[in-house]
Amino acid sequence: MPADLRWTDLRLGTACNLACRFCDQAGLRGEADTAAALAALAALPHREGVVLAGGELTTRPDLLELVRGARALGFQRVALQTNGQVLAAAGGRVCLERLWA
Ligand code: SF4
Repeated sequence: MPADLRWTDLRLGTACNLACRFCDQAGLRGEADTAAALAALAALPHREGVVLAGGELTTRPDLLELVRGARALGFQRVALQTNGQVLAAAGGRVCLERLWA
């Protein structure tokens, strides 16, 4: 991630496709729906970098909408915190290229 940008982590839920023993989200519940997630993005105080975090966001059917929404709001960089399982199973690079197109 470019160090010359301000970055804000935005946690949008806790659902995950793994169950790591060390997970700090164990016992937490709750997901921001699409509208709430986009509203949270819009409320951030800058438009530099945002890290979308879960749970595991690649399990969300609205992930592409959230990324595009962040870009439409003017964020210079949109990063995704992921365990990579879905991306690896889908072919990794091909999936990412489609996601960020
Ligand atoms: S991948 Fe991350 S969010 Fe999912 S269970 Fe493991 S530590 Fe928790």
